[in-house]
Formats: sequence, structure tokens, C-alpha cells
Amino acid sequence: MTSSSADVAIVGGGPAGLIAADRLSARGVGVTVYERMPSVGRKFLMAGRGGLNLTHSEPADAFLSRYREAEPRLRAAIEAFPPEALRAWCEDLGIETFVGSSGRVFPRQMKASPLLRALLARLSANGVTIRTRWRWTGFGADGALSFDTPQGPKTHPAPDAVLLALGGASWARLGSDGAWSAATDAAGIARVPFSPSNCGIEVKWSQHFADRFQGVPLKRIALSVGDRTLRGEAMITASGLEGGGVYALSPDIRRALADTSAPATLTLDLRPDLDVGTLAARLARPRGKTSLSNHLRKTTGLAPAAVALLREAGERPQGAEALAARIKALPLPVTGVAGMARAISSAGGIAWSGIDDGYMLKDRTGVFVAGEMIDWEAPTGGYLLQACFATGTAAASAILTRLDHTESPP
Ligand SMILES: Cc1cc2nc3c(=O)[nH]c(=O)nc-3n(C[C@H](O)[C@H](O)[C@H](O)COP(=O)(O)OP(=O)(O)OC[C@H]3O[C@@H](n4cnc5c(N)ncnc54)[C@H](O)[C@@H]3O)c2cc1C
Repeated sequence: MTSSSADVAIVGGGPAGLIAADRLSARGVGVTVYERMPSVGRKFLMAGRGGLNLTHSEPADAFLSRYREAEPRLRAAIEAFPPEALRAWCEDLGIETFVGSSGRVFPRQMKASPLLRALLARLSANGVTIRTRWRWTGFGADGALSFDTPQGPKTHPAPDAVLLALGGASWARLGSDGAWSAATDAAGIARVPFSPSNCGIEVKWSQHFADRFQGVPLKRIALSVGDRTLRGEAMITASGLEGGGVYALSPDIRRALADTSAPATLTLDLRPDLDVGTLAARLARPRGKTSLSNHLRKTTGLAPAAVALLREAGERPQGAEALAARIKALPLPVTGVAGMARAISSAGGIAWSGIDDGYMLKDRTGVFVAGEMIDWEAPTGGYLLQACFATGTAAASAILTRLDHTESPP
């Protein structure tokens, strides 16, 4: 088959689907992108609201370890399309990127819209057709694709290859609502149930604490669940905590909540850079008429929110040693996680057991999957988008091979 006679359908116009469309159309493949929303890339644009974190500059092994159990499956795609390749792809689209002080990588303009605009212009120049308001509803006879459209049901007769890049199940109002799972389940495609990832947690604060401290960050703390500890920060909300440090513990918190034999506990170290002995020695200094709260602030450098948190977690222990120990290990009972509607991403999706090394479904020849719809999760920090772009690229390469093309390395 020649590229110009090939017909590839990509369902889902997010980062994974659109980079695949770019790769395929650059090789002359005829590509149609189907998107259920009135426009493509809505979650990508939302990701750009707070400063689009495209990827991360840390060393490859540390980077790959962020994917935890999915690392062995994602490794090849990310090694073939690593953060530097993603940055080069952006630059090729005219979008300059930079490494922030935390090692995170952003586009200079911080937003997603210039990148999306440049990509869509290139797709259009390469002849890609984008059909919006077409919702994929399943496979028809002989591998045709069925859609609900404003003009009623339509089909795309069996394409030479299909890429499903339908996204996860969080922030449903942006398009990726996970409802596609009805179609994949009906087709017998193995799937792991969705759960929220990178989401806030619920802690029952006193009314006074919630009123006074919601919106206040807890900076430079360490957070632990079970035997996993990391440094980061968290933001106090009316109903619990959110922020990078909490998000990165999503899998551990979910596991702890599922274990009904013990309550789920998030343990905070409010001064991770000082040991118990040093803190105790400082707390043992005479405090005269100073209130305990002020003494705590002055001797340990704790912020007012952290001092209040010590009281929130029960009676403050008496004595410098015990108080120091509490500062180093403040237990917070976690009652639940925030819902899917506001989770940054979702865990679960198409099971790896049903996907081959080229992102093709083992039981559906010619149907490929990419992006967040596959069963992996990762913390915020650019790891989500990197894996979406890398798996979209890997699936496109495998499709090209299948269409009897050879692709030079990205
Ligand atoms: C608030 C927020 C901030 C974020 N910030 C970052 C960040 O800074 N860095 C980062 O790495 N990640 C971030 N993410 C995560 C990142 O945006 C996603 O992981 C990424 O967009 C997933 O890409 P995808 O292509 O797999 O799926 P999506 O972007 O979800 O795209 C899937 C597309 O498929 C369409 N679709 C779904 N079902 C159908 C159907 N049946 N028929 C047709 N079309 C369908 C959807 O409408 C959607 O457009 C953020 C997410 C949110 C919500």
C-alpha cells in the first residue's frame, strides 16, 4: 500500500491523537480525526491555563520511574520519543520551550493555544480532515466505525488502520468522559476500571480551620502514605488538601483507602530539613510569657497554617520532645478522594495485557490505542503529556510500519 492511498481514522483529538495525525500526515497518509466535542484539544487547552507543563528535564531513569508499574510498558515509547524530542517537535512548530527552576519544561508563552494553533495549521496543510461533533459509538460490521453526529448516525467504512486516542475519564466536560468504555467493553476489549488520579483528598477540618486557612499553601513539607515519602507542597482546601505533593501520592492514597483493615492516614513532616533532636532543643528554649503558638513559630519557623494544623490533629503533645515528634510526623485521617470531575487525570483504562508492543490491540488487528485511555498514571510535572505524545508517536510509527512504511527516528 502507498501512503497516499492509505486511510487512517484517528478517534479523539487530544495530544495523543493529534501528534499521531501529524506523524502520519507528514508521510502522506490520508488521515481523518474524529472528535466528539465542537473543537479539538479542549483538555490540552485547559492544561495550559496554569502554565502548560509539557515535560520534565530530569535524567531518564528518574523520569521513567514516575510511571511506577507501567514503566516497563511505556519505556520503549518514551525512549524513542523522549523529552528532548518533544521539545524539538515543539520548536519545529515554532514554539520555543524552556526548563524552569524546578526542572519542568514549559513553552515560552506558557500556554497551550499557540502550540495547538500551529499544529492544527500543519495538519490542515498536510490534508488532515477533522470532523468535530462526531462521537464514536463502536465498531460496526467488518471493522467499520460507527458515530453519532448532528446529522444522525454515520459510519467510516473499515479504514486501513484505526487509532483510538479517547483520553481518560476526568474533567468530563472537556470531552474525555470515559463513556467510550461502553463501546470497547461491547467489543470485548479488556479494561481496568477508572479511578481519579492527581486529585485532592478529603480531611475533615474543623470549621474554624477551614474558614481561616483554605487557600493557604503548606510549603517545603514531606508527605507520606504507607512506606512512600516525598517532598513537596500542598494547598489547604475547605474539605482537605490538594497540590502536587498530594497528587503524586494518588495511587498510595487510593490503595490505603481501599484497605478496610486500617484507616487511611497521610503523615506530614512539617520541617523535613530538621531532625527531631534539633527541633526539640529549639522548643525547649524558655518561652516566658510567649504563647505556645508564637513560641512554635519563633523557634521552629513553622508558618501559622502549620502551627494551626498541629492543633487540628488533636491535643498538642506536652513537652519539647513529644511536640517535635508531632511536627515530624503529623497524622491526618483521609476520608476520601475528590471526585473524577476535578481530578487532573484518571487511572485505569485499556489493559496492557490486550496491547502489543506497537500499541495495537492484540484481538483487533489494525486498531491501535494511545494516550491517557491506556491503563497508566503519572504525577503532574509534565509526565502525563509526555506519555500521551510518546504513545501517540509510537502508535503512529507502528501504523506506518503496518502500512508498509519506514519512519526515520523522531
Ligand atoms: C486542569 C488540568 C491541567 C493539566 N495540566 C497538565 C500539565 O500541565 N502537564 C501535563 O503533562 N498534563 C496535564 N494535564 C493532563 C493532560 O491534559 C492529559 O493527560 C492529556 O490531555 C491527555 O491526552 P489524550 O490525548 O490522551 O486525551 P485527551 O486530551 O483527553 O483527548 C481525548 C479526546 O477524545 C475525545 N473523545 C472522547 N470520547 C470520544 C468519542 N466517543 N468519540 C470521539 N471523540 C471522543 C475527547 O473529547 C478529547 O478531545 C492536565 C489536565 C487537566 C484536566
